Amino acid sequence: MASQIKQEEGQPIITEKDEKTDPKLIEQAMLWHQRMGHANYHAVKMMPQHSTGMGVNFTDLNVADMPACETCSQVGMDPFAKDGC
Ligand SMILES: [Zn+2]
Repeated sequence: MASQIKQEEGQPIITEKDEKTDPKLIEQAMLWHQRMGHANYHAVKMMPQHSTGMGVNFTDLNVADMPACETCSQVGMDPFAKDGC
């Protein structure tokens, strides 16, 4: 029997923690990563908790879901590094 490709209906279901980070959140985090002079993603995630006026909340941001930053890789920085410079 041929294997069937199961088509899933595109229903956005918001579940618990092991879900992928909301792409909008990723986009915002990326923006702040750039604004902060390409600070590492862990620092970006922590920032709203330590400052006011950012208007964002990265509590649900999973750093592992962040895309690689082209600029960082060009200059040899690793935004995923936990104890970067
Ligand atoms: Zn970067």
